[in-house]
Amino acid sequence: MTDTLVMQRIESNLARLRLPTIGQILDQVIKVAESKGKSYLSFLDELLEEEVAQKEQRRVETALKISGLPFIKSIDEFDFTFQPKLDRQKVMSLFDLTFIGQKANVIFLGPPGVGKTHLAVALALKACQAGLSIYFTTMEELIVKLKKDHEAGRAGKGRSYYKSSLVIVDEVGYTPSDREQCNLFFRFVANRYEKASTLITSNKAFSDWAELFCDPVIVTAILDRLLHHSVVINIKGNSYRLRAKEVKNAINIDQKMKACGPLLTTENGILLNDR
Ligand code: ADP
Ligand code: MG
Repeated sequence: MTDTLVMQRIESNLARLRLPTIGQILDQVIKVAESKGKSYLSFLDELLEEEVAQKEQRRVETALKISGLPFIKSIDEFDFTFQPKLDRQKVMSLFDLTFIGQKANVIFLGPPGVGKTHLAVALALKACQAGLSIYFTTMEELIVKLKKDHEAGRAGKGRSYYKSSLVIVDEVGYTPSDREQCNLFFRFVANRYEKASTLITSNKAFSDWAELFCDPVIVTAILDRLLHHSVVINIKGNSYRLRAKEVKNAINIDQKMKACGPLLTTENGILLNDR
């Protein structure tokens, strides 16, 4: 059989086995292997490594696309110096992902802009890269889905919010829930309890959750299950969003001042224009 025919058969077999990357790089790898006198073993190893790497990259890209994450940011992009009161070690220890193996929960509390969603997204990204299934939703969206599935008589077992290894429920507490919504959320939490990890972010302290979920008995039942195996991180600090605004305002003020000409300072520190 000629080399051309052998090549055609290899290409057709690679397509049947769904190994497209090997098909793309084969020519080049053969040339390099021949010129450098590489062993059969390292030649095969190089081809398979490249195929696996490409497949893994595609898996992560697809999983992230369907995960519902609002943005992609890693923990490396989180500036801990901006939140000096935040326990960096406690946050970083989550990134070994043992809490997911232990089916434990994570709860980030704090006012808007302190980085709750950023940290949640960074954890989801890490989990996804580690091959775990992730699903991100806001509380508002989750309630809509739970209600729809409940009304349609679907138990939700095939749903991502049910079966993913890590489900993130962002923004718990922005909108108060009625009794039916409370019940749906309770069932969601109870279904995942000790079976898989849930990550919650909320701008409300637990003491305010009773007002959020109209029935105090259900709130207790929800918190009981959420907190039994959990890591709670309360972020007390300034909003990162406003920081950017403050810097911008400072620049604007500075530019306006310069446009006004030289300034004088009075005894009580007030700046006066020198004209
Ligand atoms: P929250 O969910 O607490 O309201 P976000 O996580 O949405 O806040 O943060 C708002 C924006 O500020 C996002 O773009 C986020 O990436 C960024 N951000 C917040 N905290 C930090 C930080 N410490 N370092 C870098 N970026 C931050
Ligand atoms: Mg947020």
